Amino acid sequence: MSRIQDYAQQRAEVLLEEIQELVLLESPSQDRGRVNRAVEWMEERLQAAGALTTRVPQTEAGDQLIARLGAGPDKTLLLGHLDTVWDAGQLVRMPVRLSDGKAYGPGIFDMKSGAVLMLELFRMAGRKLCTFPTSLVAFFNSDEEVGSGTSRAALEEVASECRQALVLEPCLPGGRAKTFRKGVGIYTLEIFGKSAHAGVSPGRGVSAVEEFAHQVFALKQIVGTFQNASLNIGVVQGGTRSNVVPEYLRAEIDIRISSSSDGPDIDRSLRALAPVLSGATFRVSGGINRPPLERTSGVGRLYEKAATVAKRQGWTLGEGSTGGGSDGSLTAALGIPTLDGLGVDGDGAHAVDEHIIIEDIPRRLALLAGLLERI
Ligand SMILES: [Zn+2]
Repeated sequence: MSRIQDYAQQRAEVLLEEIQELVLLESPSQDRGRVNRAVEWMEERLQAAGALTTRVPQTEAGDQLIARLGAGPDKTLLLGHLDTVWDAGQLVRMPVRLSDGKAYGPGIFDMKSGAVLMLELFRMAGRKLCTFPTSLVAFFNSDEEVGSGTSRAALEEVASECRQALVLEPCLPGGRAKTFRKGVGIYTLEIFGKSAHAGVSPGRGVSAVEEFAHQVFALKQIVGTFQNASLNIGVVQGGTRSNVVPEYLRAEIDIRISSSSDGPDIDRSLRALAPVLSGATFRVSGGINRPPLERTSGVGRLYEKAATVAKRQGWTLGEGSTGGGSDGSLTAALGIPTLDGLGVDGDGAHAVDEHIIIEDIPRRLALLAGLLERI
């Protein structure tokens, strides 16, 4: 076993305790106060590790936290988030517990365990337990789970100082890294018709619901012309009473794309949609929220390095793709080689059985430290 693997093994218990502590600080994206408690928890420990920290204050979302350590001009970005998709109080339904070599809790896999590994890498660098050739920069996002609206500009600014980005988001089943992510478009389609009495004067109305029925197929057709793109109309709200011709309908639409160049084309087609019923009008808002993370040669090189480190440490890393988005797509879109899905192995992101595999904590830490030594 290498020196790094030894150290990681010794730290496993402490890290598991810290992961549980951080999970107990519930931090739903929409709850600024709670997210900031998790940010404070992390900031205190980063400072104790010798990092220089900065907070990007927010008024609605929690603050973003940036940490830096090392003086060298070459920097590696460690990227993650402290918010979760779970409302406060979820701990009652999903208490933190250890069972069968797994640790359960809301946000433990996505991605509080990854956040604790980011912290530990700073400690290793601060105590000079490892020689990392690049300085470390960490960005802890606070609104990743709701599309990174308030954080995107700060993240892009910090990322553009860095040579590469390692994303501590959950890995794929079996511990594999993510070298391809689909891009995400989030749109709202509003349809405006005209209300009328359904029995007395139906002909005077223009049904927003009927218009929407036409548009569902138009949307499917648009998205169907792009390779490996998908459409989900996740929320539909419209109408008031069964005896009233509905004058308004609102639909929330999620579109996933596989190639960056598809984004503008799909966007243009959506905005060019035309009403079928005379008298109906539309408003299309939203856009491509995160571009795809494509497996460029830079991404491939980072993966190969990580796979070599894993092999030397006695296991096989593996890689794969996912339909889910992350901030890794934002750094990749800036041309920064980005390796995603480097978090602790587990399963159940956004699901009630969310958990990590305890024995993977030291294995991941050793992988990340080994990779940072060779980066
Ligand atoms: Zn996540």
